[in-house]
Amino acid sequence: MTRTLIIGAGITGAALACQLSRRGEAVTIVSTHAEGGLASAASFGWLNASSYLSHPHFHLRHEGLAAHRRLQEQLPGLPTTWQGCLWYEATGEAQSETAEDLERLGYQVQRLTRPQIAERMPALGPVPETALAFAEEGVADPAVLARAMIAASGAPVIRATVSALTVAAGRVTGLQTDLGPMPATRVILATGTGTPALLQPLGYVLPMLQRPGLMIRTNALPPVCPLVLATPDQEVRQDPQGHLIAPASAGHQSDHAETLGAFPVVVNATLQRLRALFPGHDIHFAHQAMALRPVPGDGLPVAGQGPVEGLWLAVMHSGATLAPVVAECLAAEITGGPDSPILSEFRPARFA
Ligand SMILES: Cc1cc2nc3c(=O)[nH]c(=O)nc-3n(C[C@H](O)[C@H](O)[C@H](O)COP(=O)(O)OP(=O)(O)OC[C@H]3O[C@@H](n4cnc5c(N)ncnc54)[C@H](O)[C@@H]3O)c2cc1C
Repeated sequence: MTRTLIIGAGITGAALACQLSRRGEAVTIVSTHAEGGLASAASFGWLNASSYLSHPHFHLRHEGLAAHRRLQEQLPGLPTTWQGCLWYEATGEAQSETAEDLERLGYQVQRLTRPQIAERMPALGPVPETALAFAEEGVADPAVLARAMIAASGAPVIRATVSALTVAAGRVTGLQTDLGPMPATRVILATGTGTPALLQPLGYVLPMLQRPGLMIRTNALPPVCPLVLATPDQEVRQDPQGHLIAPASAGHQSDHAETLGAFPVVVNATLQRLRALFPGHDIHFAHQAMALRPVPGDGLPVAGQGPVEGLWLAVMHSGATLAPVVAECLAAEITGGPDSPILSEFRPARFA
């Protein structure tokens, strides 16, 4: 009998549990952190395809938005929202080039003038000359989604830390954990930054970049930011309770910093930028969350069969956007379906 263990209770493990259970597979989740995960609990949660490293990456992200919509149909009541994004991370020629490339790829792009920007976001202090609007984009809280998907899957969650995978005759046979050994015929690693340590004893080196991310939440404000806002030095959104949610680094999805700097300095600099964006509002610090972002060495997701039989990998940055679509594809493959062409550029074998 197949015994499937998913390691990790973040959005990736949860999405896999959800999609496998929809296909009639019984799965158990094993995780150090509770339902909601680690990076998932510190995420900005911006669902987008406008931030991409290659055209296959764009297509996967674009399908990721569609998968989120399918998930909302499967699990009615999810708090995922589709407010769109106001984007001027790049300006001038670079902004036009982004618009042209996205239009060629079939993305919905609107080019906005200064009055149109002011109309869409009246509270914005400095209004740029031009910006792009991406109507298809939205926001989800990956930790909230993870909890909802795990509940829907019915998968039991065992709070344990996996120290090693056990392998015999080239096949995964289970786990070593702090609760003792756990037998399995199939293991799926949705372990984010914890993945390289589990693969290394198998002779598989998964490069993982060092990318700390700090997310700040402010006090509740009146409605000032109806869209996800991406400026050259700040990304920000407003949650339904009125808090501004803001990464501490500019352009956080392409941020290359390996260290964060002193927290009070970084937090204060972020608050200053938010006050400049929304002048006349009393904006102060309320909460922070920090996590290492699970960014594989080339920045792209790692999804597919691992280095031994019965082992599968699902490790990715932009997992808020990508986890549902990757889980749909992998659940189909794991249960005997054909390979998903949309994942062909993102296979683990590229690092073997
Ligand atoms: C600050 C920040 C901002 C982000 N912003 C965005 C964004 O705007 N849009 C977007 O799409 N993405 C964003 N991301 C990325 C996205 O949040 C992550 O890609 C996604 O949450 C990863 O989910 P995951 O389930 O794979 O990993 P995690 O949430 O990290 O979960 C990993 C799980 O594995 C478990 N685990 C690991 N090792 C072991 C072990 N040995 N034994 C047992 N359990 C183990 C952990 O306990 C945890 O439950 C952001 C991330 C951060 C940190």
